Amino acid sequence: MRTAYKVRVYPTEQQAAVLNRTFGCVRLVWNKVLAWRHARYHAEGIKTSYAETDRYLTELKRNPEFAFLFEVSSVPLQQTLRHQYTAFVNFFAGRARYPRFKSRRGRQSATYTRSAFRWRDGQLWLAKMDAPLEYVWSWPDVDPTTLNPTTVTISRDPDGRWYASIAVDIDDPEPLPATGAAVGIDLGVKDFAVLSTGEKIPNPRHLERKLRNLARYQRRMARKQRGSNNWAKARVKVARAHAKVRDARADFLHKTTTRLVRDHDVIVIEDLNVRGMVRNRHLARAISDSSWGEFRRQLEYKAAKYGRRLVVIDRWHPTSKTCSACGHLLAELSLSTRHWTCPSCGTRHDRDINAAKNILAAGRAVSACGADVRHSGSSRVRSAVKQEAQPVRAGIPRL
Ligand SMILES: [Zn+2]
Repeated sequence: MRTAYKVRVYPTEQQAAVLNRTFGCVRLVWNKVLAWRHARYHAEGIKTSYAETDRYLTELKRNPEFAFLFEVSSVPLQQTLRHQYTAFVNFFAGRARYPRFKSRRGRQSATYTRSAFRWRDGQLWLAKMDAPLEYVWSWPDVDPTTLNPTTVTISRDPDGRWYASIAVDIDDPEPLPATGAAVGIDLGVKDFAVLSTGEKIPNPRHLERKLRNLARYQRRMARKQRGSNNWAKARVKVARAHAKVRDARADFLHKTTTRLVRDHDVIVIEDLNVRGMVRNRHLARAISDSSWGEFRRQLEYKAAKYGRRLVVIDRWHPTSKTCSACGHLLAELSLSTRHWTCPSCGTRHDRDINAAKNILAAGRAVSACGADVRHSGSSRVRSAVKQEAQPVRAGIPRL
């Protein structure tokens, strides 16, 4: 399986210049290809293949106006075509938003494959650089000199910090011992998740606080004269606050998914259509804040890693309106109703716990008949019901 080590890097001035130039070219290629794709789709209704974007890039490089594209390694330019292709596969499958144009002010990144970097004795040499990149290694039990990385992605956050994500293929870890436990998870807005066991996992409080800070810095920045010194200072503060929100969210999701995978043999979730839901303005903030897509991605790879079974049930199951005790189906249940009593068997339900119990039952039914559960490799079940073939992921799990 593939995993990645993300390290902080400290480029020299020359290296930073090379990387910034590379980022600029990657951004240009991404945006040009995206605009071209968009125009073709809207004018002629044609979907653009990866091979076509590849030819487009070749043409672009022939144009003397873009001769500077030859000044940087061609590999990250090629990789950005692959990333965009994956982004469109995810978009058409309903898993992701429409790919956006890259901004000079956002996070920048460039991916190098083996032909464009050398990893020797734990030193990282990138194409067009005259010295290895300095980085800080933070896994005392992993010797970096023994690694054989497949790709290296260099990124620069808007707050100016540099990182390298070093992807490696590793042996599959031993499956965790069976626990005999299964869990259904109802993802919510009020709580982040509610389990069929009755446990509620709230959205982390510190995240709320960090989000409020971010909003405050954004308001301050909005009051400054655009382009002024004070505006630039305020922008760095916004970027830092953003990074804090992102780190806190990632930390919360990693802790939560690790615990769920460690404690259960079978985990059942609903196949939520994130794209459809983000369009609903009321839920939008809460959903993007709680990062359900990332939650599912982490459950998928951690379940695969530790030999657990993740079952994804069809989102059209009436999980909220069905009584988990007797199966009675309510005609109506408003979003604001948090508790209800079953008219058939008299059981009093917490709306979300009842839904989680139904999700678990639906997942059990699916995995018992086995028909809809795809097997990957040996006997490990990676996912999922009613789902398109998984594309190669652009993102790689961070350890
Ligand atoms: Zn009932």
